[in-house]
Amino acid sequence: MGWERDIRIKTPAEIERMRAAGRLNAMALAAVRELLQPGVTTADLNAAAEEVLRKHGAYSPFKNYGHPPYPASICVSINEELVHGIPGKRKLKEGDIVSVDCGTVLDGYVGDSAFTAGVGEISPLARKLLEVTEQALYVGIAMMRVGNKTGDVSAAIQQFVEANGFHVTRQYTGHGVGRSMHEGPQVPNYGTPGTGIPLQPGMTIALEPMVLVGTHRTRVLPDQWTVISADRSLTAHFEHSVAVTEGEPLILTVL
Ligand code: MG
Ligand code: MG
Repeated sequence: MGWERDIRIKTPAEIERMRAAGRLNAMALAAVRELLQPGVTTADLNAAAEEVLRKHGAYSPFKNYGHPPYPASICVSINEELVHGIPGKRKLKEGDIVSVDCGTVLDGYVGDSAFTAGVGEISPLARKLLEVTEQALYVGIAMMRVGNKTGDVSAAIQQFVEANGFHVTRQYTGHGVGRSMHEGPQVPNYGTPGTGIPLQPGMTIALEPMVLVGTHRTRVLPDQWTVISADRSLTAHFEHSVAVTEGEPLILTVL
């Protein structure tokens, strides 16, 4: 470990390259989103993302990451699965909510982004969860300005989510991103305003609210990757890689 302290300030030229990786990552996620319908397998989603990356000379940093080595290019996490679900034979069903997390390495730089979307008609609770989690991401991004600290970003996410009656994970965090998928600073989804690392222009951070309906507690399934809510309540995850600038935060992982 140790990546939490490894903060790397990027030059404008590096941020341009991260923007290119982020744009391609958004294309891969868009290809996956188009496939979300009942009967499609999670392996089909992985194949669609891989195809987009491969065609552009890129690959996913998720593949072979960690121990045991992560076996796929994206994570697909359904309903109570919060993050790190492994694609396979499972078929999507009407009413599922599906979190898709994709990483891209292009020209030596990483883009990292995720969304959660419904399959067909979803419950009012699921719809609210998706809205709150996505808004929490933008509430956090809005705090990514010079003069603020990482704790201001974390606290804004936590306060927004909890004001809406949901819970943020304590186990998994946002992170710096650049030449590698995980750099400093670590940016949890909970925290105290005025604490943490001062934000500086050229910092690039993957911000990723992970939100649970029932409690903040999670556990890992026997596959050693899939993280679920401990009470099996619904969960959602949205993520963008974002650059801190002298002015407005710059979202890197969009088309
Ligand atoms: Mg991610
Ligand atoms: Mg991430």
